[in-house]
Amino acid sequence: MHLILANPRGFCAGVQMAVDVVAQTISLLPGEKIYVYHEIVHNKHVVGRFQQQGVEFVESLDDVPEGGILVFSAHGVSPQVREHARQRRLQTIDATCPLVTKVHSECIRYARQGYQILLIGHANHQEVVGTRGEAPDAVTVVESAEEVAHLNVRDESKLVYLTQTTLSTDDAGVIIAALKKRFPQMKEPPSSDICYATTNRQHAVRQIAPECDLVLVIGSKNSSNSVRLTEISQNVGTPARLIDDVSELDWSWFKGDETVMITAGASAPEDLVADLCRVLLERFGGDLEQREIFNEDVEFGLPISLKRMGKARGVDLDESRIRVGAPKVTKELYGAVALTVSAKS
Ligand code: SF4
Repeated sequence: MHLILANPRGFCAGVQMAVDVVAQTISLLPGEKIYVYHEIVHNKHVVGRFQQQGVEFVESLDDVPEGGILVFSAHGVSPQVREHARQRRLQTIDATCPLVTKVHSECIRYARQGYQILLIGHANHQEVVGTRGEAPDAVTVVESAEEVAHLNVRDESKLVYLTQTTLSTDDAGVIIAALKKRFPQMKEPPSSDICYATTNRQHAVRQIAPECDLVLVIGSKNSSNSVRLTEISQNVGTPARLIDDVSELDWSWFKGDETVMITAGASAPEDLVADLCRVLLERFGGDLEQREIFNEDVEFGLPISLKRMGKARGVDLDESRIRVGAPKVTKELYGAVALTVSAKS
């Protein structure tokens, strides 16, 4: 079997930051109960590992005792949720990805300027719920190109579109084209709202999948960007499977001599990718190639609320930076040392 590991894959800087926020909060407040509003990131292993350390994930702020410690997840929350937390005197730490915050800021700015905002995304996704909450009267969610013909708009000269950060660039492109066709005066955001991590992981699938028999994506079923990776693969004609971990492999998918691309959604931990490579190589033999499509070099700081909490306890987090680089592929963990090949993007 020939395994092609996509680079980049797995954790983005926003997910790494959110995971680090919870880990740092646990170590700053030993013995204290920590609550997280929704899953910190959409991955059952990440959530399960924190649950084992006593962290409780809640879907309602009323499940957090007054004055309790609450982390907001990477997907962001609406101002109404922040206000509710204030009323309950919760000590909040905001792990919202800065690239989601950027979309919130655009939403606020355009709403103040009197624009109607067409927010392309999945209406029930937590990120979209949070962004829409910034200006509920100004935002209309658009989920598909089919909806565009039936949209009611107030003033075609005061329209702008924004997008969820984790959409398929293919699907978003189709919806944006339909919107531009119907509303030629519509304004665009200053730069794409679909984030660098989503774009790069999708681009890697587009580049590598056509030469593969199968694409395996490590990620959870509720992870938007992971599901999109399987769709991109299917769009280029290669079947793809989304699995949380090796336990979901079905051996009937393989003859044993295939070329298999392996990638991971932005919320999937790398140890699960290593397990998958090792298990496949133990069963079928073969080799491992790491294909470098992009070398990501994105750095985020920790949230101010966490830095303040650290300072109050004598821990200086001001200089802490979150940086995610390509993981080192070792024989012990992955079953082989990867030959690394760079590809033109
Ligand atoms: S996928 Fe993009 S928007 Fe979401 S946490 Fe990662 S970097 Fe941020």
